[in-house]
Amino acid sequence: MTMTPIQSFGAAETVTGSCHFLQLRQGPKILVDCGLFQGGAEKSSFEPFGFNPQDVDILLITHAHLDHVGRVPKLVKEGFKGRIITTRATLDLMEVVLLDSAKIMEEDFATQRKKAKRRGEESTLKEPLYTLDDVKAVFDLNIQFAQYDTPISLAKEVSATFRNAGHILGSASIQVSFLVDNQPKSVVFSGDLGSSNGLIMQPPTAVAQADALYIESTYGDRNHRSMENSLLEFKEIIQQTLKRQGNVIIPSFAIERTQEVLVLLKQMFLANELPRCKVFVDSPMAIRATRIYNQYHAELNATAQNLLATDGSIFDFPYLEYTLTGAESMQINEHESGCIIIAGSGMCTGGRILHHFKHRLWDERNSVLFVGYQAQGSLGRLLVDGAEEVHIYHEKIKVGAKISMINGFSAHADQSELLNWMSQFNQLDKVFLIHGEPDKQAAFKIAIETQLNKTVHIVQYAEEIWV
Ligand SMILES: [Zn+2]
Repeated sequence: MTMTPIQSFGAAETVTGSCHFLQLRQGPKILVDCGLFQGGAEKSSFEPFGFNPQDVDILLITHAHLDHVGRVPKLVKEGFKGRIITTRATLDLMEVVLLDSAKIMEEDFATQRKKAKRRGEESTLKEPLYTLDDVKAVFDLNIQFAQYDTPISLAKEVSATFRNAGHILGSASIQVSFLVDNQPKSVVFSGDLGSSNGLIMQPPTAVAQADALYIESTYGDRNHRSMENSLLEFKEIIQQTLKRQGNVIIPSFAIERTQEVLVLLKQMFLANELPRCKVFVDSPMAIRATRIYNQYHAELNATAQNLLATDGSIFDFPYLEYTLTGAESMQINEHESGCIIIAGSGMCTGGRILHHFKHRLWDERNSVLFVGYQAQGSLGRLLVDGAEEVHIYHEKIKVGAKISMINGFSAHADQSELLNWMSQFNQLDKVFLIHGEPDKQAAFKIAIETQLNKTVHIVQYAEEIWV
């Protein structure tokens, strides 16, 4: 028997560091994603991969989030010279994401060295994980673009098919098909799956056949709150804050969430539901991402297409300003009231959002409107959990603004949507859970076993799975 091992070197019993290695016996060695470990993950991205990057022939990329692409420059730096295959939109977004990531890594490294020096010690870090030059080297490799639903040949009798995963622009589930003892086999990597009623993304495309399915389980244990309630809440907070002469600060992820928020604000504007105000997108990364969303608008859902057809643009409306430079960003401070400020980072761990907090968090007229997940330990989480004061740039700031959290805007499918996507397979043999916290995976495993009657395994780090 010639069987094929798959090993996961990330996103095993955790949500970050996606990296799955499929070693075909008589074919190429394929890596699916190469993401960064983030936010207190047990593994560090500085640790060795667990395989030799020079042995990898092909890198398939599901989507441009950092936890799926953030170690690609390290892979290249350590000897990967193979082919990269992904969608065009993912490649463009990935460039924005990796350049931003390298810049942060270089800055963090410089800060750590400076601090160590002041303590009279040697810095434990010898170099950043990667630099801007390492990122540029990624884009010099042989890159091939995948079209949704069209198989790409990887080698003789081995192919990969990308299907729209509906998670963020360009995102894909990837089916790798090959022969074992002349029998066709296929392994499907779900990537991150979007919700079936996304604000601007199309629903995930169904896949027909999998001998093994590697599926994400981020929200495997729960169903999201209804979108209608979330939309009502979103409108109400904005209208009430502007009515009391306050400002609304929206910490937002640059990719997907910012574009969704813009569409919601534009819809409010068109329906005369948005009081006169100024809306700022105050994040260079979000501005670049929005340009890419515009460029690939044909991949977005009917809501986006209708806006484009009837109003000439998907995201723009008269109140909206993009503030790219630092000087433009500082000028926002001059507006005493009546602003909606969308800025990053999404969890308030850095970026321009901090200077807006410093300037406006104390003022009771203002609102901070969270529209995405806030990880334990982040400033965003502290605020959501009700902190009465926080420290920003070493200064104590009173939390006077009204803090709200809207839970319904997830870019991930919930349990019922994941089960529904799986139920559309014509043939589905074994299910392997990746990309989820242990408690959520345990609940998801039971749901799949009882509702779909499938064999489910929770993948451990580096464990060899034979298909
Ligand atoms: Zn993602």
